[in-house]
Amino acid sequence: MKYNRSGKSGLLLPQISLGLWHNFGSVDDFKNAESIVKTAFDNGITHFDLANNYGPIPGSAEENFGKILQHNFKGNLRDEIVIATKAGYKMWDGPYGDWGSRKYLLSSLDQSLKRMNLDYVDVFYSHRFDPETPLEETMMALDFAVKSGKALYAGISNYNPEQTQKATEILKQLGTPCLIHQTKYSMLHREPENGLLDVVEEKSIGCIAFSPLEQGLLTDKYIKEIPQNSRAFNPNGHLQVNAITDSVRNTIHQLNELAKDRNQTLAQMALAWVLKDKRITSVIVGASSVEQLKNSLASLNNLEFSTHELLEIEKILD
Ligand code: NDP
Repeated sequence: MKYNRSGKSGLLLPQISLGLWHNFGSVDDFKNAESIVKTAFDNGITHFDLANNYGPIPGSAEENFGKILQHNFKGNLRDEIVIATKAGYKMWDGPYGDWGSRKYLLSSLDQSLKRMNLDYVDVFYSHRFDPETPLEETMMALDFAVKSGKALYAGISNYNPEQTQKATEILKQLGTPCLIHQTKYSMLHREPENGLLDVVEEKSIGCIAFSPLEQGLLTDKYIKEIPQNSRAFNPNGHLQVNAITDSVRNTIHQLNELAKDRNQTLAQMALAWVLKDKRITSVIVGASSVEQLKNSLASLNNLEFSTHELLEIEKILD
């Protein structure tokens, strides 16, 4: 594993991080989830990404991760891993369980710590920008989380370039620099290229990409059919079947052929493609099996692209 510095902070993150959005909830197989986390750590993945609402049921991914930590990460191993959690999407009923108020963020962080049985998380994120709450209030909640010792660093996710600029400036004034921005980025989702990557560079913060495989679309599994053990088939999965159009299948097929020429799987090429941008600190992958995670890890054996390959990819994606 290679570790990249998150912006100009002191924190190094692995090029590949593990996300627990799917496959770690109370509806999933705990032993499988535990094996994935153990395999990740044994292969140098020191960073685990969670959120209050991951499950289903919401909260259960944190509970299961807490159990995995208790069984497998005894003693000082807590000091060898970086755990992130977030608040920003609906978590509980009533006016205080959603969006970006200080009330919601700080109660949610306390709940997350209880569920994971932790004294602190390494990174606490505002999961999304709240247009109704003053940005100062949301950032002051992150600042307080850090100053109270419940989080070591503050992060933001799904903020647009302008919101990111303002948020990082407020955090800097408060004395808690923004560590990282977490954004969706993949060959099929290029939005961060429209300003966000420039802002993270200008502000010297890290950038961590989620859904780099576009929830599994950027693999060879959907080229012919929708397999029964896939996220698109799973009623708890967020990948919509209607996202898998003939045109998308055609694109995936062509990308898959290119990946074969590079002696990689499409998943490996898709991860390498995101990591080629030096502003990307890490990619957060999901995995439903140990085999998938190992396959994704092997992307690190070939991260280089020739100019010709990059042009071919652009032609296919055009
Ligand atoms: P990916 O794009 O990596 O998709 C993961 C899924 O793709 C797996 O569950 C599996 O699905 C399939 N897959 C993974 N590896 C392979 C492989 N090597 N070969 C074939 N199929 C593979 O990421 P996610 O969408 O899961 O997101 C990753 C993480 O990002 C989340 O867990 C979360 O931590 C974070 N995230 C953050 C968000 C935010 O708002 N900040 C929003 C969404 C995610 P299958 O079930 O089909 O096997």
